[in-house]
Amino acid sequence: MKDEFAFINMIKPREYKQSTLVMGIGDDAAVYRPSKGMREVICLDTMIEGIHFTKETLSPEQIGQKALAINISDLAAMGAIPRYYLVSVAIPSSWSDTELKAIYQGMSSLSDRYEMDLIGGDTVSAKESLVLTVTAIGQVEEGVEFFRSQAKPGDTIFVTGTIGSSAAGLALLLKHGRSGKYSDSEKQLVILHQEPEPQVIAGRLFASKCTRMALNDISDGLASESHEIAEASGVSLYINEESIPLHNALLDTVDSVSKRVEYALNGGEDFQLIGTVSSTEFDELIKDALKKGIVLTPIGEVREKAEQLVYIVREGSEEPLAKNGYNHFK
Ligand code: ADP
Ligand code: MG
Repeated sequence: MKDEFAFINMIKPREYKQSTLVMGIGDDAAVYRPSKGMREVICLDTMIEGIHFTKETLSPEQIGQKALAINISDLAAMGAIPRYYLVSVAIPSSWSDTELKAIYQGMSSLSDRYEMDLIGGDTVSAKESLVLTVTAIGQVEEGVEFFRSQAKPGDTIFVTGTIGSSAAGLALLLKHGRSGKYSDSEKQLVILHQEPEPQVIAGRLFASKCTRMALNDISDGLASESHEIAEASGVSLYINEESIPLHNALLDTVDSVSKRVEYALNGGEDFQLIGTVSSTEFDELIKDALKKGIVLTPIGEVREKAEQLVYIVREGSEEPLAKNGYNHFK
């Protein structure tokens, strides 16, 4: 990249969608008005070339799209409406202007759908790897508090969508790359890894219906996310292995049952939601969700704190489940 200012000018939105925005890109900081009765929700996630993606696993558009999607997913897990985002990019010389532009196009393809505005960021150079950091800002009604500390004994544990597909897609990509020859089912898994859809509609439905819910997005696999809920809530989670919903493409592609389960428990990056809610509320919720085309699947039950935080129930017997989802410091 020759000129930082030309670059900022190129990625600067031509118009903004949010009516509360006062100042977008082009000053020292962005300014927007708070909304009555709403709380601000803010999160940040970083994607690093060589760790979270390579040019072989994601196209430049998909890198941008995914960097924003994983942040929107965190907003969804708080029941929030996405509003704004900021982007910091550290650029090594191995990345062309065309590729950088494509990263931003990937982000705007997603932000257009969620009516989010890009309101700022930072541009710096890097030695070797591209580093992309996105901050997302959303809003949620006063009183909606979907914290992981809110699971209670007797709650139903549920997930949205299907689990494990992203990890299976990544395994394919690591073997054959983006331009590999894939069957239709394999292609579906690859796309689920590359272009995860954040569960905003589900999060907003929960916010409109539920008073208490423990909610997490599944970035690190079911094992890790369920440990976080159990730990924060001081309870134990019992997950029925056979209840975990798997995508047909995963069933088609991966024959080994234990491999499928491993993808679901330890794989991560599905960006679906895992929640716990009172079982009476869940019975209503599952119907309301279906009307919006969202499939909720009950996968287990919250009980009083036991010796271990999470158990997997398999053919009637309960085994402790280790928290070995993907861990950066392992
Ligand atoms: P400052 O020196 O005040 O930090 P900059 O030159 O870094 O200003 O940025 C100018 C404007 O462009 C600011 O509004 C900033 O938020 C925005 N900006 C800079 N880099 C990016 C980027 N990579 N993506 C989006 N907005 C950016
Ligand atoms: Mg700056």
